[in-house]
Amino acid sequence: MQTTQLYIDGRFVAPKEGGTFEAIDPATEKAFAEIASGTAADVDLAVKAARKAFDNGPWPQMPASARASALRKVAEGIRGRLKEIAALETRDNGKPIPEAEWDIGDAAFVFDYYANLAEAHEAEGAETVDLGDDAFTSTISTEPLGVVGAITPWNFPLLMAVWKVAPALAAGCTIVLKPSEYCSASCAILAEIIDAAGLPAGVFNLITGTGPDAGAPLSDHPLVDKLAFTGSVPTGRKVMTAAAAGIRTVSLELGGKSPFIIFDDCDIDKAVEWILFGIFWNKGEVCSATSRVLVQRGLYPKLMERLVEATEAITIGPGDVKGIKLGPVVSKIQYDKVLAAIEAGKKTGAKLVTGGGRPEGMKTGYYIAPTIFAEVPTDAAIWREEIFGPVVCVNPFDTEEEAVALANDSPYGLAGAVMSDDLDRCERVAGKLRAGIIWINCSQPTFTQVPWGGYKSSGIGRELGTAGFMGFRETKQITRYDHTRTWGWYLGQ
Ligand code: NAD
Repeated sequence: MQTTQLYIDGRFVAPKEGGTFEAIDPATEKAFAEIASGTAADVDLAVKAARKAFDNGPWPQMPASARASALRKVAEGIRGRLKEIAALETRDNGKPIPEAEWDIGDAAFVFDYYANLAEAHEAEGAETVDLGDDAFTSTISTEPLGVVGAITPWNFPLLMAVWKVAPALAAGCTIVLKPSEYCSASCAILAEIIDAAGLPAGVFNLITGTGPDAGAPLSDHPLVDKLAFTGSVPTGRKVMTAAAAGIRTVSLELGGKSPFIIFDDCDIDKAVEWILFGIFWNKGEVCSATSRVLVQRGLYPKLMERLVEATEAITIGPGDVKGIKLGPVVSKIQYDKVLAAIEAGKKTGAKLVTGGGRPEGMKTGYYIAPTIFAEVPTDAAIWREEIFGPVVCVNPFDTEEEAVALANDSPYGLAGAVMSDDLDRCERVAGKLRAGIIWINCSQPTFTQVPWGGYKSSGIGRELGTAGFMGFRETKQITRYDHTRTWGWYLGQ
């Protein structure tokens, strides 16, 4: 069985004290690798290496084109090992291989995208501002923010890491990455690819390990300038508290309970297709999953019939078997959490329409049947709280105003979707939904070029797009006084 290592200051090393923990295949429930378990001592070495690489190293001062060419090598490296990484991601996380291949292809693209963006940003140069006073001129420019501590989840293990690593490196920052202990294997390969691309020592560091042992010391480390976190609200709160203690910049990409409003002029098959993709893609382990579906009453009975039929036809099994559309959930812990949420849902008065537990006949693996609850009380936990599994709630509505009010009645605001053949209505509803990401006539397709992030409890800041790059730059004004003049406040007449 393979044992991974930490990557600190340009070297692959074993943890100082932590040993290893097992990577478990959720389809077989068996270990397939040993993952290096970093602790505070390793985090300290990694952060100090990143600090040194930032303060003294060439990386932040390099022309953007030099950083970009290194990042393009990383993109090439990922593409060159795409099949291997995708297979590993499926083994670690359970997702179907084609979905893993999308993720890894996207990860390569993200490196290329930020390589281009860094060059374009540098070419734009500083902005000169007219101050209305000809004794002064000001310019506004940006520069690399510093040392980044990145903490990431298990649902898109490589991609969520790359959403931070690629823009941070392109922006000239140095970074310590701490991926989720439930899926760390693909990030260990990323370290190999970055090493092979020849980035200077200390620019990228990988500390695998648990949240308390490795994530917490990274959040607390005084030499980190920015914490970039993706994960649950409770952990995000801890990371923000640590950032507050050190007055560090923080970005948080947290959970959601996103609504999908379907009006009664929709084609039923199109609506069903996007409802399924909105919740069962990646096993529902998607922060932006549209897990609360609102269907206009005229369409509701027929749509429910078709939705149940299509849900029951979803092929369930190991992600590496061809044609499988729903793999096992990521871990035993997550399996127990999702089943507990379903059991609690059964006691709320909601109708369990299909699913509701382990699929029949599947003895091994953390499988949960795709589950639909209907007519759900809107104060029930299954309607309000993120389940992060293949469970969707569907409720009817009558008017557009009612749908918008129900959709916005949530502590979260990550995403939302609306479907109607009336495109004016779609635009109007999109404008009223309180969320950072809105899909019209679809749900979930995600593009690197546009910003990603949430309102309300779904987070702070934006990843992807230009915003994702600027999140790793500091803004600086330089104001110049005309040195031929005399100020004269104290020394003048
Ligand atoms: P999690 O909060 O349990 O863990 C996330 C990361 O935080 C892991 O690396 C974990 O080891 C680390 N961690 C745990 N305790 C810590 C501590 N005390 N200090 C520092 N780090 C600690 O989340 P998860 O279960 O891995 O991921 C699922 C969550 O992530 C869901 O809520 C989902 O919505 C969210 N998510 C959000 C986005 C987004 O873009 N908004 C994307 C993917 C996932």
